[in-house]
Amino acid sequence: MSKSHILFLLKTFLCASLILPVFVSADQGLKYNAYGLKTYTIETTHFRLSYTEGLEDVAKEAGDQFEKLYSIYRECYGVTLPTKTEILVVDGELTNGLAQWNLNFIVIWCHDLDFTLRGSHDWLRGVCSHEFGHIVSLWSP
Ligand SMILES: [Zn+2]
Repeated sequence: MSKSHILFLLKTFLCASLILPVFVSADQGLKYNAYGLKTYTIETTHFRLSYTEGLEDVAKEAGDQFEKLYSIYRECYGVTLPTKTEILVVDGELTNGLAQWNLNFIVIWCHDLDFTLRGSHDWLRGVCSHEFGHIVSLWSP
């Protein structure tokens, strides 16, 4: 991981740490400090996906979904992103997504993907579409 990549992630986490407390109520608060978690990175043509231990399959599936979306959204919005979109896939106490359009960065918290009340739709495909839609639509001319 390059120095610029680490700085990019630190800036993004700083931004997320300023935003998250607004959306996380006290009883749903994050219960552990993620410092020291080992991360791995895979790349596709248009994305760099970093993930924590045990989430390689989820990251690969998300990468496949993002690549499918890339040409669809690019054709629809006529936008070329300045760099590969950075994706962080982590486990946590939330199942959620966050897009930092100005940083071309997405976080996916994929806790409990098999939650039975979620219904039969594919949550991961949906959150990838939703968050990447934020990125592409706000970069569009
Ligand atoms: Zn949204």
